[in-house]
Amino acid sequence: MPQLTGKTALVTGSTRGIGRAVALRLARAGALVAVHGSSSQEAADEVVRLVEQDGGRAFALQAELGVPGDVHELFLALERGLKERTGGTDLDILVNNAGVMGGTPPQDVTPEQFDRLYAVNAKAPFFLVQRALGNMPDGGRIVNISSGLTRFANPQEVAYAMTKGAIDQLTLHFAKHLAPRGITVNSVGPGITNNGSPVFGIPEAVEQMAALSAFNRVGEPDDVASVVAFLASDDARWITGSYLDASGGTLLG
Ligand code: NDP
Repeated sequence: MPQLTGKTALVTGSTRGIGRAVALRLARAGALVAVHGSSSQEAADEVVRLVEQDGGRAFALQAELGVPGDVHELFLALERGLKERTGGTDLDILVNNAGVMGGTPPQDVTPEQFDRLYAVNAKAPFFLVQRALGNMPDGGRIVNISSGLTRFANPQEVAYAMTKGAIDQLTLHFAKHLAPRGITVNSVGPGITNNGSPVFGIPEAVEQMAALSAFNRVGEPDDVASVVAFLASDDARWITGSYLDASGGTLLG
């Protein structure tokens, strides 16, 4: 039974991978979903088409995060899309999912790479939350996509993991700040998740990545989307400021 009927949601970075699965999930639960990306209108339109084929409602918007004016541009398009479809600009659910990976050995990370990672993965989510608060009714939901790498060392990803550590701080402090309004703020930490990138087509690589999970497989985007959908629902009303491990037991060692 859909639990999100009448709700509106923005899922950043939902043209593919985990964000796309989250958008499809929330729409299946009844929410009107804003599908967001920066580089491919076609990919965003395709997600909208899949939602509609499934009987749901969605619309696409484009805005690059991590550049000056990013949040303003995104919200102009978001509010326009919401107004056309609902008559208002309420945003019940914000999923901060868009992110970029690092993959550079610590000794080779440049200040420019570091700044870019931080701008997209940490600064943009902070200002998206700040901006969304004017649109979010009491009882709203904020879900921030973190990473198991905040708890599992991989030196190649130190700069990236630092940005995800910042996301967990965003969760902690905004959870306290927004509790009086009944708005919950939580982090979800995926492990290695098949986002369709070429490495997931190499059997030997997949075998090695799968071995990190207690279940001996890599995660699928829908594994993570289920956790996000739960946090977005009324069933999760008593959870705030938490980090939910969605890594298939990777942290069990
Ligand atoms: P993908 O690389 O598959 O997709 C990223 C999405 O974010 C795309 O829709 C992309 O759209 C959008 N995006 C990226 N950069 C920007 C930008 N600067 N401005 C606007 N949109 C942007 O990501 P995943 O599904 O792999 O990951 C989703 C989240 O989960 C990320 O935060 C990631 O850090 C986290 N995560 C992923 C793991 C994994 O193994 N996949 C593991 C742990 C955490 P476009 O290309 O059009 O910009």
